[in-house]
Amino acid sequence: MKAILVREFGGPEVLKLEEVPTPRPGPGQVLVKIHAAGINPYDTYMRAGVYPVKPPLPYTPGSDGAGTVDAVGEGVISVKPGDRVYVAKTLTGAYAQYALTLENQVHPLPSKVNFSQGAGVWVPYATAYYALNISARARAGETLLVHGASGGVGIAAVQMAHAMGLKVLGTAGSDKGLELVKREGAHQTFNHSTPGYLEELMKSTGGQGVNLILEMLANVNLGQDLKLLAKRGRVVIIGSRGDTTITPRDLMSRMASVHAMMLWAITEAEESELHAGIIAGLEAETLRPIVGKEIPLAEAARGHKEVLESGAFGKIVLIP
Ligand code: NAP
Repeated sequence: MKAILVREFGGPEVLKLEEVPTPRPGPGQVLVKIHAAGINPYDTYMRAGVYPVKPPLPYTPGSDGAGTVDAVGEGVISVKPGDRVYVAKTLTGAYAQYALTLENQVHPLPSKVNFSQGAGVWVPYATAYYALNISARARAGETLLVHGASGGVGIAAVQMAHAMGLKVLGTAGSDKGLELVKREGAHQTFNHSTPGYLEELMKSTGGQGVNLILEMLANVNLGQDLKLLAKRGRVVIIGSRGDTTITPRDLMSRMASVHAMMLWAITEAEESELHAGIIAGLEAETLRPIVGKEIPLAEAARGHKEVLESGAFGKIVLIP
């Protein structure tokens, strides 16, 4: 089969399309024919060798994908060849024509969700679900700011929070992104590259502030986020690309708190909860993964460059 291999950590150019043996499923394993693989920002940090999780080299990147079950190993009972599935982590990497997974890493893909959309389910929706429901314990009627709402996680959070009955404010850095965020359920949108947008945002809450913030770029925004919070407000740090300074008194005076999460550190029980909630939302169509770009697997390097550029508009997916 064809697969992307990383033989040394480095820039996007280390992603090379190679011919490798197609894996065979052992006991408890499933072989999935990948129709689309999702690119996440963490794939780029891992490829560069700067992520806390460093896979042994060479490796094939990718934890997110969707396709059909090709073969199952002994003892597998939850899926059979031909089933449509999305994958949430793999044993051999999703940037390939086939991926080997454990039985509990494949999940049914509802019929209304196509394969490219299915490649944008795991990391974005699981992160949004965890941040809203488990970290922040969001409640209907609360006001939420999704700071960075136009990307994979942001859109997932906007759709989910809208369906849960929160008032959703979302930011994006382009007109196209703002339109998308509004269309997917934000009640109000703000451009995070326009000076003065935080004052406008605060004004829109009548000076009360927001109850919750999901933060995609904490190194840039955390200090200001704390000043936007209402009493007992919560920030969940989802993304950060550097250091930052905060004023602790902003937290003290509001009895506020900062939470942080890492999808790789959640428990098995939490993971089961995430999938149950996500699949129900996909079936009900309150969750609708948005695909911004489909590019050939051979151009994975281009995907890794583009995922870190601004102007996000949903997911970038690779088609083997
Ligand atoms: P993505 O699809 O690349 O989207 C990035 C988002 O950040 C876009 O909405 C982008 O908006 C926005 N952004 C750019 N500049 C911003 C600013 N100054 N303030 C606020 N937002 C800004 O990435 P993603 O998959 O949604 O992931 C978002 C971040 O969370 C990444 O850093 C990722 O590594 C991290 N993450 C963490 C976890 C975890 O477990 N903790 C899980 C998933 C993702 P425009 O492009 O419209 O400007």
